[in-house]
Amino acid sequence: MTTAAQPADTPSRPPAWQRILPQLIYLGLIIAAAFRYDTLGWPPFVWIAGSVALTLIRAPFAKANKANVINEHRRGFIETVLLIIVFLFLAAFPNIQLATGVLSFADYRLPEAAAWTGAALQIPFIWLFWRSHADLGRNWSVSLELREDHGLVTNGVYKRIRHPMYSSIWLGALAQPLLVQNWIAGALAIPAFGLMYLIRVPREEAMMRARFGDAYHDYMRQTGRVLPRLRQAN
Ligand code: SAH
Repeated sequence: MTTAAQPADTPSRPPAWQRILPQLIYLGLIIAAAFRYDTLGWPPFVWIAGSVALTLIRAPFAKANKANVINEHRRGFIETVLLIIVFLFLAAFPNIQLATGVLSFADYRLPEAAAWTGAALQIPFIWLFWRSHADLGRNWSVSLELREDHGLVTNGVYKRIRHPMYSSIWLGALAQPLLVQNWIAGALAIPAFGLMYLIRVPREEAMMRARFGDAYHDYMRQTGRVLPRLRQAN
């Protein structure tokens, strides 16, 4: 008889209901928001539809990348705090506000054209979010990490922009105050993501330069940070 090794994740795997608890809470918040449609109007539901799309786009990558062997990470305290801030202002607060109205004291009203602009921005936002995940593939991670066989991606949406995923999140952060018209659950998405962007990008680029050396240096000359570089450096 062979003593086959247990799959590595078997012993500490939490029960099914615990694993789907975040999804159940998320679904509950969306259902609660749907009951408030008459008060909220259509724009927040465009924001909700966008967030659901992002969750569905990211889920298979998050699952597949659990198998990655990470041999370098710069998570640390600052990175954790930034991730929490982004989670609160780009996901938790808007969903809680739309479901319950607890932050309604901070509401503002914009003309209808603003909501349409926010809705239009969802299209390039979601497209770029999807393409950057597809092009990065196994090299994607929520935090700053380099895996064992990390490859430098310079094709697809990475051809002219170094941080297309952050470009896409910028589009989403700009759309959020137009669709969720609330100072805390909408407008603060911009400084919250701005803070993460300003602190993370130099750290990420330093990590990439340390790993890929001249190849990343050349890549930096060929690309823009979040806006495409149209003319190639020579
Ligand atoms: N900053 C990129 C990627 C965000 S995901 C963007 O906005 O599109 C963060 C992880 O992606 C980092 O931990 C890093 O390991 C990886 N990464 C960033 N740029 C990369 C590239 N050009 N090729 C491969 N991996 C990259």
